[in-house]
Amino acid sequence: MSMAVVVIAGRTNVGKSTLFNRLIGKRKAITEDAEGVTRDSLKGLVDYDGTVFELYDTCGVFSDAEDEMLSSMRNRAFKTYEKADLILFVVDGRAGITAEDEYVAEKLRKLGKKVILVINKSENPKVVEANLGEFLKLGFTDYVIISAQHGINVDVLLDKIVQYIGKQPFEEKIQQNLECPKIAIVGKPNVGKSSLFNAILKDDRATVTSIPGTTRDPVDELVNFEGKSYVFIDTAGLRRKSRIEYKSLEHYSVARTIDVIEGADVVLLVIDATEGVTRQDKRIAGLAIRRGKALVIVINKCDLVKVSQEEYRNWVYAEAPFLDSYDVVFTSAVKYYGIKELFKAIDEAYSSYCRTVSKAALNKLVSQLPILSPNLVFGELKIFSIEQVGTKPPKFTVVVNKKEHVNQQVSKTIENLIRDRVDEFRGSPLILTFKERR
Ligand code: GDP
Ligand code: GDP
Repeated sequence: MSMAVVVIAGRTNVGKSTLFNRLIGKRKAITEDAEGVTRDSLKGLVDYDGTVFELYDTCGVFSDAEDEMLSSMRNRAFKTYEKADLILFVVDGRAGITAEDEYVAEKLRKLGKKVILVINKSENPKVVEANLGEFLKLGFTDYVIISAQHGINVDVLLDKIVQYIGKQPFEEKIQQNLECPKIAIVGKPNVGKSSLFNAILKDDRATVTSIPGTTRDPVDELVNFEGKSYVFIDTAGLRRKSRIEYKSLEHYSVARTIDVIEGADVVLLVIDATEGVTRQDKRIAGLAIRRGKALVIVINKCDLVKVSQEEYRNWVYAEAPFLDSYDVVFTSAVKYYGIKELFKAIDEAYSSYCRTVSKAALNKLVSQLPILSPNLVFGELKIFSIEQVGTKPPKFTVVVNKKEHVNQQVSKTIENLIRDRVDEFRGSPLILTFKERR
């Protein structure tokens, strides 16, 4: 993606996170939640006045980082600085300059990047005026006086950013990215949905960009895994929850499950390996299939069971035969196990969900129906043709002599024949509609 990269730099406690959240349009959530959490990889997309850029938040930099962790944090922050097209160097307007600020300034001068000095915490202009001379001695002539917390002059800063990086409209590339599979993680409480999502985020093969929630609070995440993009939808709760231990079932909302399934292409139904497939799981799976969504069954916490995967899989299909066209994968969110296999199953399900099969193959199937399924066309029902009329999921129109001869059994038989003889469409439901021709 050739999008401009803007990086927020500075020592700790100057308000970098507050500014980050302000710019990407998420209020306070992250600064409050991320206490003690390294935020060095935080990244968001900002869409301002038709200009889109990537914004990175970095962790605070310490000059005398003898401590191994602090110095490795510092190195990671510096690596992020290097990626920048533009740096927002944040200082505390009330506190004035500290040795740590000088240290960051020196690094930025050496890097020779474009820098806007952001003088934050400036609700009281008088205080800032007194310190201004000192700030300018840092050597960055372009500055903005703001209050990230109160939103003062943030638009002035945004205008300045746009001046530096130029108008960069929402490129097609990003659009394409947003057209990649939309994934929903669903399942009962405590099966490990949050843990699994966080395991994905922590995977070295994954990079994550937050897509700010525009109309709703929940946030989607653009996850790049081994070169492919996926949008995980409605993840705000999943992100936050890993840090809060709550066991209350009240937080589990069926409405949320339905909503999130509605917006998805691929549904990951997470099941607790120690519990197996419950009635509730079957209901959610049925819901996803009826709504025409691709589906992957995820047996999580597989570190806690001793059964072989093959045995377990057979057991799932025996328990819920209607799931036999859908993959069952095994993960352990705590042991970081099975993430790659999970993405493989998502890819397969999504590819089935988008696939178009050839007319010739469907015509051949129709001509072979009397041999393949004599019962189907033995009675009064005549099937003239089967045509694929859509994808996401694959949709077929079956032209018959009389619709009254069609029942669920007939529909299921034709679906199975398509899967057996034309394409398995593994992981995706198929939608069949019947039309009459006289
Ligand atoms: P970071 O360590 O640089 O990411 O700083 P944070 O964003 O975590 O902010 C550090 C503290 O400064 C928090 O208590 C914020 O609420 C506070 N803060 C951030 N921006 C402002 C501001 O504009 N004005 C005031 N008064 N406080 C702010
Ligand atoms: P959610 O309600 O579905 O989001 O579930 P959580 O992610 O909050 O996990 C519920 C509990 O199960 C937490 O105590 C997790 O630590 C634990 N857990 C999640 N995944 C695994 C796993 O793969 N193995 C084990 N042993 N525990 C897990």
